[in-house]
Amino acid sequence: MKITQDYYLIVDLEATCANDHSVPRHRMEIIEIGAVMLNSKTLQLESEYQSFIKPILHPLLTEFCQSLTSISQQDVDAAPLFPDVLQDFQSWFYPFGSYLFCSWGDFDKNQFKQDCRLHNIGYPFSGGHLNLKKAFSAAVNSKRKFGMSGALNKLGLQLEGTHHRGIDDARNIARIVQAIVA
Ligand code: AMP
Ligand code: MG
Repeated sequence: MKITQDYYLIVDLEATCANDHSVPRHRMEIIEIGAVMLNSKTLQLESEYQSFIKPILHPLLTEFCQSLTSISQQDVDAAPLFPDVLQDFQSWFYPFGSYLFCSWGDFDKNQFKQDCRLHNIGYPFSGGHLNLKKAFSAAVNSKRKFGMSGALNKLGLQLEGTHHRGIDDARNIARIVQAIVA
């Protein structure tokens, strides 16, 4: 769980979705990037990033998606497209230099790859990916897979902010990392 890079770049994405199969997995798109930069030596949060993104394949969010994520149609209508946000996001994290891209499970990494392919732009991260869901199970010596809220629960921590909002999920994941690395 300890890493050699200077920072855990913890990312949590929200994406278009439905509960009636109207948005298949391969047509989901990122609608929010939430990210925090956690210093791997001091375990202090040094910076945060948040942006909404306007999706192009399913520009109208389902009621289900809006209620799951608390992201509104107005939020995404007013947001830039993925390539512009990705450039802005990269200019936020590049100056930190030595980072390891981390997320809860592999969904976020795969969704980044999918949106980069859709927009025909390069994958932004170098240096691999750490699946914190797997790392957490190993750290607590469990064969179980924990959701983020289950992991907080296991640690006796309360979920802070709004679950399924990218920036709040990223902050909560950082609290899990702080607890298991310390
Ligand atoms: P999360 O980081 O857990 O908030 O989930 C990231 C994304 O996965 C969400 O924005 C949705 O696109 C999708 N997702 C999460 N939970 C569900 C669910 N119960 N049903 C459908 N899609 C979901
Ligand atoms: Mg989330």
